[in-house]
Amino acid sequence: VIAKDAANYKSPLNEHFIAHTHILDNYHIEDMVFEKMQSFIYDNLMTNWPEINRNEIEKIYPIRKNNLHIITQDYKHKSIGFCTVCNHNTIFYSNEDWLRDHYRCMICNSTPRERAIFNVLNKECYDWRNKNIHESSPSNNYFEICAKNYSKSQFYPENKLGSLINGVRNENLEQLTFNDNTFDIFISLDVLEHVFNPDLALKEMLRVTKPGGIVIFTTPIHKNFDKSIKRAELLSDGSVKEIFH
Ligand SMILES: [Zn+2]
Repeated sequence: VIAKDAANYKSPLNEHFIAHTHILDNYHIEDMVFEKMQSFIYDNLMTNWPEINRNEIEKIYPIRKNNLHIITQDYKHKSIGFCTVCNHNTIFYSNEDWLRDHYRCMICNSTPRERAIFNVLNKECYDWRNKNIHESSPSNNYFEICAKNYSKSQFYPENKLGSLINGVRNENLEQLTFNDNTFDIFISLDVLEHVFNPDLALKEMLRVTKPGGIVIFTTPIHKNFDKSIKRAELLSDGSVKEIFH
């Protein structure tokens, strides 16, 4: 997360990263405590099925009270936690090992990456649901229903920049067509590792974000590298030169 301060902008990409890892879902607790908490959640949900966001979220993912069987059923991965998308104590469960996209909340069906961005927004900006938010390469459907003023863009190199394609604005992160100081919050999750000039993309994201606004981005961290390594270059004839495999 970068709070906008263009005058003091310094690229984080050429410096050593300190990886802050938030382990949201995967904490371990004693079996007995787990069972007690399971029955607490079960009793709680039986009498008070969460209504927060439920009607909206149900438009995307059907939520049924018969999800309650998940509480007692065995899964390869299962834990108890608080879901930042539906704002409820819940069970996370998955039979897949690729947790990022499969470790779902039993109430709202969200995945870890969806809960993680809601968690960051809740911490950095309590009022984010009322802010002007833009996301490059949309990462989940919950923003559309939870944020009042949300827009998204993708990059379609063959089409005119700034145009709408199937309801999604065509934007190149390295040369955005938005005016300066347009958004309160600019989000780009796992996008910067795909652009040729990430420093330029970050500067553009800061340019279109209002003073005091927030830019949020994620990039993968490789445990064997402590610096970013350029792996491809865009040549003047439009072709791509691979540098690092
Ligand atoms: Zn949830």
